[in-house]
Order: sequence, then structure tokens, then C-alpha cells
Amino acid sequence: MPKRLRGQLSLAIAVPLLLAVALMSLLTNLFSSHAFDDYVQQQELSRSQTIADDLASQFDSLKGGWDDGFLHTIGMYSLYSGYLIKVYNNAGDLVWDAENHDMTLCWQIMDEISARMEQARRVGAFATRTYDLKKGDGIVGKVAVRYYAPFFYSEADHRFVGALDTAFLVIALACGAAALLLGRLLARRIARPVAEAAAGARRIAGGDYGVQLREKADSEELRGLICAINHLSAALDTQEKLRKRLTTDIAHELRTPIAAVTLYLEAMRDGLWEVTPERLAQCHSEMARLGALVGELQQLANVESESPRLVLVPVDLRAVADAVAESLAAEAAAKRQSVEVEGAAEPVPADDARMRQVLLNLASNAVKYTPEGGHIRLAVTDSPEAAAVRVIDDGVGVTAAELPLIFERFYRVDGSRNRRTGGAGIGLTIAWGIVEAHGGTLTAESEPGKGSCFTMRIPRQQGRATATAEATESLP
Ligand code: ADP
Repeated sequence: MPKRLRGQLSLAIAVPLLLAVALMSLLTNLFSSHAFDDYVQQQELSRSQTIADDLASQFDSLKGGWDDGFLHTIGMYSLYSGYLIKVYNNAGDLVWDAENHDMTLCWQIMDEISARMEQARRVGAFATRTYDLKKGDGIVGKVAVRYYAPFFYSEADHRFVGALDTAFLVIALACGAAALLLGRLLARRIARPVAEAAAGARRIAGGDYGVQLREKADSEELRGLICAINHLSAALDTQEKLRKRLTTDIAHELRTPIAAVTLYLEAMRDGLWEVTPERLAQCHSEMARLGALVGELQQLANVESESPRLVLVPVDLRAVADAVAESLAAEAAAKRQSVEVEGAAEPVPADDARMRQVLLNLASNAVKYTPEGGHIRLAVTDSPEAAAVRVIDDGVGVTAAELPLIFERFYRVDGSRNRRTGGAGIGLTIAWGIVEAHGGTLTAESEPGKGSCFTMRIPRQQGRATATAEATESLP
């Protein structure tokens, strides 16, 4: 069972943080208690020394001994501080002994210290240190100080160490909790957009192409992922709409000639119409229209395929334009139109037959959409980067609103006009696809009532480009 990203991220963030907090607390505790133990040990030494110094300073040289009251005070003070002392004079006689004085109190204090140190896990044992009592240049006696070795905590020290341990524990727990919380929050922040993107992708897979995710992510990579999913969804939406429209358009285009032929044939079969060569010719022309449409669809599929097959050879666009003008001469003459070719260009790498197809389509459109007595010009121009052919007419033109649409499949300006001229509205789409496959551009400029100019530009270096359409106020 795969683990959840959020859980994995939480662990990945929280575990190192927790480890860092634990290590820091442990080391700080270790170093601080070590330093404190050193301090306490120093204190213990200096206290023993102070006891010896006090005893020496209070020695009465005239009397040759100590005042009993003072000995008692210093002895009891030391005892309450955890130091059991025995004082000897120079002759080696015991002058004051804490244990002799109050044995029960001594044992009680020793037990308390042992218990305290056991609790602090610093177990030691009682030891004795002896100091010479020096006054002036001479030694006046000795003091044996019994204490808990190597060091011991006073009540106040014990409370301090306890408070320090508690503080470390509280800090470690608080930092640990913060690390866990931070890990969870960060993981949620990272995992949420990923989960949303996955949910969006699932909806798209289920056919919901209207999915648009909020681009609310902190990291560039996540934002990129969301953008890609939104783009994918929009692209699939467009493709879906195009597919539906294409099916409707094809059905529409096929329905008219099929319905006409079916009607003619039924009428002839039922004897309502006499079978005459004219009526058969009418059926034949409808069938020919159908055949031409299917042929165009085949060509469209071909140029819209991933890699339309092109046979690239050096092509002289002037020669192609001449041939196209030639083939349209009769049609143009019937409408008393003039077709002129001008200019020249160095050959460009192109598919000769496809170039002819594009120019024939543009020029025959010019003938179709130019009234009787009009003028059509095929102007060939050259540049170091590309060769171009402009097909210019002074025909009906296209409005600025419709100009960008004429390259779309099945788009026809004013349907009734075109039913008469016979086009299905895919000639320009095919031309556009062919020019794009050559890495060139196909642009259109037009003004209603004045005419149109279609420019095909084929680069000398091959590379894909897109065709564009734009409207202009004035024509060349
Ligand atoms: P069709 O087969 O209908 O001519 P096209 O794809 O070749 O289809 O052209 C699409 C539409 O663009 C045409 O229906 C027409 O209205 C418009 N069009 C194309 N060329 C011209 C032109 N030279 N002058 C005016 N309109 C044009």
C-alpha cells in the first residue's frame, strides 16, 4: 500500500528537527551539568580551606588554644553545611569533634547528603581531608574535614539542578511539539496542491475538460504542474469542441448532395420523373461534388497529420505562379477578368505540387470572389530569408471580423453566395496547413468591396511557423 505524500513529508521534515532538538537538549544538559559539577567541586575545596583558615585565624597564641565557644560555633556551622570536622592541637590532642559533640545529628546530616546525591545520580562516599592550621610562620594545629567526595550538592544546589533539568525538559518538549506542528503544516502546504492537481487530472481523465485549478502554490515546480494541467484541460476542451464541430460540419456537407441524389433517384424509380440524360447528369454532378468533398477531406487529414509528407526540391515560385495563371485563364476569361503574373524569386526548398495546390486555391478563390471584369495579380517577391507570392484581387473582400475565421475548417463567408460558387470552406485550411508544414506563413489582408491580398511566404531555411490573418484599411 503506497504511503500518503503528506505523511511522508511530515516525517521528512519533523524527524530531522526532532533529532536536532533532542541532540541539542542532550548536549546542553551534559555540558551545563558538567560545568556545574566542576563549580561545586571548586566550592567544596574552597569551603574546606575557609574552615581551616577561620580556625587558624581564631587561634589565641597567648592562651595557646582556642576559645571553646568559637570552636563550637565554627564546628556546628561546618556540620550544618555538610562538613564534619575534628580539630587537633599541636600536641595531637583532639580539641573539638563533631561526631563526639552530636553523633545523631552527624549521621542524620550524612544520610541526608547521601540520599540527595543518590537522587541526583552522583553517588560518591565520605572522605577526609586534613589541613595544617597555620598562624604567622608556625603551625598551631590540624583540622580533619570529613565530606562527601568527590563533591556534593547543598540543598540550594540540589534545587538549582532540579530546576535546570525541568527547564531543559520543558524546552525540549516545546521544541519537539513545534517541530511536529511545523512538519505537519509544511507538509500540508506542499501536499495539498499536489493532491488538488491529482484530483484535477482524474476529473480530466473522466472527461471533464472544464477543469481549471487555482494556481495557488508556493513552489515554482508545483505552479508549473498546475499550469500544465490547466493547459492540458483547455487544449482537450478545444480539441473536443473541434471534433464535435468537425463531425457536424462533415455531416452537414454530405447531407445536401446525398439528399438531392436520393430525391432524384426516388422520383425516377417511382416513375414521377422520366429518366433523361440531363437528370442523370444532375445526379452525376452531385455525386462528383461529393467525391470532390471527400477528396478535400482526405487532403485536409493529410496536411493536418503530424508529419505531412513533403517532397522538398528547389521550387521556382514564378514558374508555379505562371502555371496556375495558365490553368485559370479559361475560367477568368469567362468572367472577363485579367490575370497577371509579375516578379521573380530564387528557388526555395518546397514541395512543387503542394505549392501549386496552394497558389491554385488562392488564385481560384480570387477568380471566384471577384466580379466580372476584375483584375487578379500574382506578385512574386524575393528576399534573402524567403520567397513570397501575393495573390491580389479587386473583388468582394472580407470583413475584418470574418478575416481571422476564413482559415478555419468549413468556414465560408456568406453561405448562400458560396453554395453557388461551390466551395466547402476547407480550401484555405488545406492551404494554411501546407504552408505551415513548409515553415512558412500565409496571411490575408482584405477590405470589403475593394479586394483581398493573400501572401504566401516560404522560408529558405525550413522551420515551422503559423499562418495569420489581419485586416487592413488600404490595399496595395
Ligand atoms: P471555399 O471553398 O468556400 O472557397 P476556402 O477555404 O477557400 O473555401 O475559403 C473560405 C472562405 O473565405 C470563402 O468561403 C470565402 O468567403 C472567403 N474567401 C477566400 N478567398 C477570398 C477572396 N479572394 N476574396 C473574398 N473572399 C474570399
